[in-house]
Amino acid sequence: MTHQQPTSPRRTPVTVIGLGPMGLALAGALLQHGHPTTVWNRTPERADSLVIKGAHRAGTVAEAVAASPVTVVCLKDYGTMYAVLDSAGDALMGRVLVNLNSGTPNEARAAVSWANGRGAAYLGGAIMVPPPLVGHPGSVFLYSGPQDVFDEHRATLASMGGPRYLGTDPGLAVLYNTALLDMMYATMNGFLHATALVGSAGVSAVTFADLALDWFMPAVVNATLTEQAPALDKGDYPGEAGTMEMNLQALEHITRTSVEQGVHSDQPRLMKAIAEEAIAAGHGGENYLAVFEVFRKAARDRSAAAPALRGGS
Ligand code: NAP
Repeated sequence: MTHQQPTSPRRTPVTVIGLGPMGLALAGALLQHGHPTTVWNRTPERADSLVIKGAHRAGTVAEAVAASPVTVVCLKDYGTMYAVLDSAGDALMGRVLVNLNSGTPNEARAAVSWANGRGAAYLGGAIMVPPPLVGHPGSVFLYSGPQDVFDEHRATLASMGGPRYLGTDPGLAVLYNTALLDMMYATMNGFLHATALVGSAGVSAVTFADLALDWFMPAVVNATLTEQAPALDKGDYPGEAGTMEMNLQALEHITRTSVEQGVHSDQPRLMKAIAEEAIAAGHGGENYLAVFEVFRKAARDRSAAAPALRGGS
């Protein structure tokens, strides 16, 4: 059974708006760490288990926001946040809004103007763990926005998980969140496709995982992701140990093997097409990491065009 700490006047009172699986976990962690906790949810009964543990169930959004200097919002999306918080009126004045909804960087930046227009400071956030891991110090929670607001409330944020501050741009937390999820899905798809490939010859996932992960950590994660990050920053892709052309052959073999073994082949085909694009752009003699140039080209072109778009020279 989980032991709840009694709420303490020394802990900053916190309001949690939104009690889906994640909001419930956040409010539970705040209670566990002794914060006087006020909650509001469209469906009020979802707060029942928290009220038993000592949370206060507010009758209105305005009452909820007025109860604490800090309001944590964890609703479905930004549209829902506006719809819900609109009824808070003047209660937001002088308070801190910490938004942990998922969304896009532009949505986060727009929310700053919205919150500031109502007299509230705004911290953008993103949660990198599932609900059962909320409240543990090692759980990664990302934040961006005004540093003084983050510093002032760091201890309160730490009651939900380990807070990492990324910078003043309020869109950074959700941008990192999206980037990490991008990496997670690509890595999982790589593993799942590879497992399907060996599975086509009767190899079990357990047998393959044992060898694959032993190989993957030193050969890919350490040798490439960790050691080569400075080369990405410099745009330096020497091809002495292996070229893009050579890697294209490997991608061709993965595609053909997938077809031969009756395994879905769109994923290797897409990777092959991206390598071909890198070669067409002149990176054929460089190493595989030059694919990074294909990925970031649109963002670079957009920054280069920005002065012209703004009417500059
Ligand atoms: P969710 O299904 O994304 O959101 C549920 C919450 O939104 C509930 O409080 C629900 O209220 C409320 N809601 C939905 N539509 C509403 C409306 N029209 N008006 C008022 N309230 C409305 O569940 P969640 O898993 O708790 O996720 C919340 C946020 O955390 C999302 O942005 C999600 O991406 C993010 N997140 C979740 C996880 C996870 O593992 N769950 C992990 C990281 C980040 P009712 O209870 O009344 O329906």
